[in-house]
Amino acid sequence: MNIHEYQAKEVLKGYGVRVQQGIVADTPEAAHEAAVKLNAETGTSWYVVKAQIHAGGRGKGKIQETGSNGVVLAKKLEEVSEKARNILGGTLVTHQTGPEGKKVNKVLIAEDVYYPGDSEPKEYYLSILLDRAKGCNVIMASTEGGMDIEEVAEKSPEKIIKEWIDPKVGLQGFQVRKVAFKLGLSGNAFKEMVKFIAALYKAYEATDSSQFEINPVLKTSDDKILAVDAKVNLDDNALYRHKDLAELRDITEEDPLEVEAGKSGLNYVKLDGNVGCMVNGAGLAMATMDMIKLSGGEPANFLDVGGGANATTVEAGFRIILQDPNVKAILINVFGGIVRCDRIASGVVEAYKSIGDIRVPIIVRLQGTNAEEGAKIIDESGLKVFSAITLKEAAEKVQAVLKG
Ligand code: GDP
Ligand code: MN
Repeated sequence: MNIHEYQAKEVLKGYGVRVQQGIVADTPEAAHEAAVKLNAETGTSWYVVKAQIHAGGRGKGKIQETGSNGVVLAKKLEEVSEKARNILGGTLVTHQTGPEGKKVNKVLIAEDVYYPGDSEPKEYYLSILLDRAKGCNVIMASTEGGMDIEEVAEKSPEKIIKEWIDPKVGLQGFQVRKVAFKLGLSGNAFKEMVKFIAALYKAYEATDSSQFEINPVLKTSDDKILAVDAKVNLDDNALYRHKDLAELRDITEEDPLEVEAGKSGLNYVKLDGNVGCMVNGAGLAMATMDMIKLSGGEPANFLDVGGGANATTVEAGFRIILQDPNVKAILINVFGGIVRCDRIASGVVEAYKSIGDIRVPIIVRLQGTNAEEGAKIIDESGLKVFSAITLKEAAEKVQAVLKG
């Protein structure tokens, strides 16, 4: 689960990570008030107005309606509300949002930490993530902060420092010092960076995160090290033990169909193809998607209804698939193990009748317990549903309906 920058900074602050101070706002007036308050708290007289969306590249990204960038500097208090107005409610397009962009509902009003006249602010890159190949966490750092790290990795991979952490002993002091040293720091800045990385790692472990990305980490001319941006990705599977973090979820940032599927306990991922599929079990779902491709179609989605599929989950799955206008056929592929095929077949027929007006052909392949009884129920239902028992048969029927 992703959270917003303003939320991430609050979380990090709680673990002693120094961050650029800011106050979130959802109207131009609230943005002005936030700036007044920030001035009183930090003494800043320049303000950064930052669009809050779950995507990076905001600084270079543009609000479609107004042409404003997603991160802008206001050098006067009076400019803050106007700059916020040009961002709030707009659609921000960045290289990470896709051409359709993302609607901005909130802005973060932050203190300017690139002091006016500061000739030597330096931006670094820092991230912590799970290295799945090595089976442990890795700290990645670079002197090329503020840039796209993918670009750095491609053009000058030697500029990316990596430090792997042995899960048995945890992060060691010498490792943190090694990273700070390789970043070319010394003196007070070195000590500050060591503190920063240690606190960041503590936060990463304590929140059960799967990725932290701080780009840029800033070194000010008076040797303070702080997070100017913060991307925090929490591990969904650990959210049950972080109720406070789970509450930070913003479902307006997620695909609405995926949210609806989640509510019904379905595992749904939308794809671009024309054949909707509903399957029980992730492995069978993947095999089914392969089969759809082999028969000349493209899967419109991945949908695993889980082991305990019943009439209710089948109906919920149907409704979700049917909301995708690209779907030209639906393939239901269920293995009756715990669930009996005749129960699924009745569920399909019931769902079909209750939704009504389904215009796309449905191919149902049932295998396992009571497969033949299931096929019989489908065949005798009088609906535009075709049954198949083998995978080959199902593939041929998909092919036939796609050809019309
Ligand atoms: P991103 O573009 O989505 O990654 O958003 P960031 O939070 O990284 O901000 C983008 C850029 O805005 C940064 O790389 C900085 O160059 C600039 N920026 C952020 N905070 C400040 C600030 O306090 N003062 C100034 N002058 N620039 C800032
Ligand atoms: Mn950034």
